[in-house]
Amino acid sequence: MDTSDFALPEFLPGWVWLVGAGPGDPGLITVLALHALRHADVVVYDALVDPRILELARGAARRFHAGKRGGKPSPRQPDISQRLVREARSGARVLRLKGGDPFVFGRGGEEALALVAAAVPFRIVPGVTAGIGGLAYAGIPVTHRDTNHAVTFVTGHGVTGDIPDGIDWAALAHGAPVLVLYMALKHIARIAERLIASGRAADDPVAIVSQATGAQQTVIETSLGALRAGAPAGVEPPAVVAIGPVVRLRPGLDWLGALAGRVLDADPLGLGRRRDSV
Ligand code: SAH
Repeated sequence: MDTSDFALPEFLPGWVWLVGAGPGDPGLITVLALHALRHADVVVYDALVDPRILELARGAARRFHAGKRGGKPSPRQPDISQRLVREARSGARVLRLKGGDPFVFGRGGEEALALVAAAVPFRIVPGVTAGIGGLAYAGIPVTHRDTNHAVTFVTGHGVTGDIPDGIDWAALAHGAPVLVLYMALKHIARIAERLIASGRAADDPVAIVSQATGAQQTVIETSLGALRAGAPAGVEPPAVVAIGPVVRLRPGLDWLGALAGRVLDADPLGLGRRRDSV
């Protein structure tokens, strides 16, 4: 990679870089993320970080898994933050690598505040978040002028592990035409139930994109009403759930499917627009 056209910040000893690794496809990491991988002394990574991205780290870098996946034992958040502080204070260049974007449902804010409290200098490197980039790999734009002027990102998992407290379901059901749910598979039946009970249409289209942007990506199209029976069989985590009319654009924009021979529909919303109209 030739980055001589612009200066990248030096990864200084004693610093922590909190970096988004994107949803999976290594091609989606940023130039800054690659730069950090090439200079880090220590890489502390989450379970959702694709192994091919870790392979880009300097050979001599020490690697620590700080995975948090349901059911499996994982380091506690304070232990992860403590490790970052300890390694930085010992003079290492510490790369904290998180799936997607570190500030989107990823506890990046918590870890950064722990660094602030310990007076450890840090940099944030945003990444492609699953709820935007992952949907793009399924041919679903999160906004489109003909369908929605707003989108809401929601976590299906609160601090207690249950669906989050304090969600105003009526506001959520009516607030934006498009909802994008993270960490929602476990409680999807109850979430669908509550959205419908709060006025969301049962025939609202849904796409469940699992292992988005990776080689195993799968997309299941269904409806909100059908989700009341739970996630469809065969959906593997991690998955994002898109609810709303943008899902209807997929037959037009499934560019990955087109690579495999799918014929795309230039007018998936049935608006009768000609291909060349603007
Ligand atoms: N910081 C991450 C989100 C972490 S929360 C980001 O910005 O993407 C973990 C949740 O993210 C998962 O439960 C799932 O909902 C979503 N997710 C992360 N990677 C994903 C992927 N490759 N495919 C689908 N969903 C993904």
